[in-house]
Amino acid sequence: MLWRAPRAVVRRVVGVTLCWAALVGVALAGLRPRWVDVLAFAAFVALGGFAVVVSGRLGADLTVSPAARHDLLATWAVAVAVLLPPFYPTVIGLPLCWLAGRADPVRPPHLRMFQAAALGIAGFCASSVHLLLSPSRGPFTVEGLVGSGSAALAFLSAVAVYPLVAGLPGVGMARAGRGDGLNAWLCGPPGADVHRPAGPPARVPRPGRRELVPARAAEICSSIVVAVLWAASPFLMLAVTPPVLLLQRSLLHADLLQAARSDAKTRLANAAYWRQVAEREIGRAARAGRPLSVLLVDIDHFKRVNDRFGHLIGDVILLAVADALRAAARPRDLVGRFGGEEFVILLTEVGREHALDIAERIRRQVAGTHCRLDGRPPLSVTVSVGVATHHGPPGDLSTLIARADTALYRAKADGRNRVRLADPLCTPA
Ligand code: GH3
Ligand code: MG
Ligand code: MG
Repeated sequence: MLWRAPRAVVRRVVGVTLCWAALVGVALAGLRPRWVDVLAFAAFVALGGFAVVVSGRLGADLTVSPAARHDLLATWAVAVAVLLPPFYPTVIGLPLCWLAGRADPVRPPHLRMFQAAALGIAGFCASSVHLLLSPSRGPFTVEGLVGSGSAALAFLSAVAVYPLVAGLPGVGMARAGRGDGLNAWLCGPPGADVHRPAGPPARVPRPGRRELVPARAAEICSSIVVAVLWAASPFLMLAVTPPVLLLQRSLLHADLLQAARSDAKTRLANAAYWRQVAEREIGRAARAGRPLSVLLVDIDHFKRVNDRFGHLIGDVILLAVADALRAAARPRDLVGRFGGEEFVILLTEVGREHALDIAERIRRQVAGTHCRLDGRPPLSVTVSVGVATHHGPPGDLSTLIARADTALYRAKADGRNRVRLADPLCTPA
């Protein structure tokens, strides 16, 4: 399967892992082991491990993917980076990610390793910055950690460096435990024993960057509290774990929001969310005097696919079509599942001609997507597309969709696997 690996993914995986291995070597060479550091490290692994295992069970009965949940591992990793020599934050990801992986069977071992490497790189950098700027080498008291201007500067610089490094391309990908493409490369997509869509790998919807900012900020702030309380007295750690768990629970909100907006089977926007966004956009387009188009996409003869191969294979095809639509649409176009085997795409600031081009591209993309089913020749389906454009005074979304639907029926009647444009709406003069 190696020949299918996207080069960028291979470069990132190899780069992150080699970089981390080199940093472990450097940190180990500079280490002067002290019992007090080893004990502190063991305590943080125990606390972080406990938080990871308990939080892994949070929301286990909800439809949120465990892989999409925030793990707050940086809470412990950053504290270790400022309190202990660089070797410890460089390797703390190993036990924590291993435990996180046990609580999350969806995330395979190679992704856990990848995530541990990212945590290690960010931890090494934060710890090295602290070591360079801090006058004290620990064990720290509160006074030594933040009691003077230079100590506070070293502390805050280290804390700031961590998210900066963790957000770097490649490191950020690994830090989130995603490894986009890596999983498909090493294992094939989920259920690879049954099928393997030849199209682009399915993407799990993730919270946007903006939605992650409060979570990351809370994670870093809680790491500051953990580090200072540890310096005051390690016993205070007992008071820290419950709030961290509570924080983790509150972060489930973003994931639940994501789940409430997406269709579980295709991972596209669900009909309710799509409509909500489309209503807003049609009003905005009318106010700005810009066009807006809607594509209604229906899989051709899908019932035959179900009848011939069964509904499970039908679902695989449905997902492959959803991925093809997403791949063919622009990132800002909202692709939704309208219902059954029908999809709807919102194209903002797109007029008739351009919408027609996009629809044609989508039709071709789906027709060129082949699903490999074990023991069978590759299977492909086609779609028919109805296009309707709104440009002018405030319009009604239902009317726009109804026009796209009429165009879709024409595409079906004309033989399927084609695109038809709705008649322009006649507005009273
Ligand atoms: P046409 O080209 O006229 O659209 O034919 P069609 O067979 O696609 O249309 P029809 O409306 O007759 O059948 C739609 C089929 O889509 C029937 C239904 O079983 C299938 N379907 C709807 N939702 C799902 C789903 O979630 N999974 C699977 N596997 N099939 C679905
Ligand atoms: Mg249909
Ligand atoms: Mg159909």
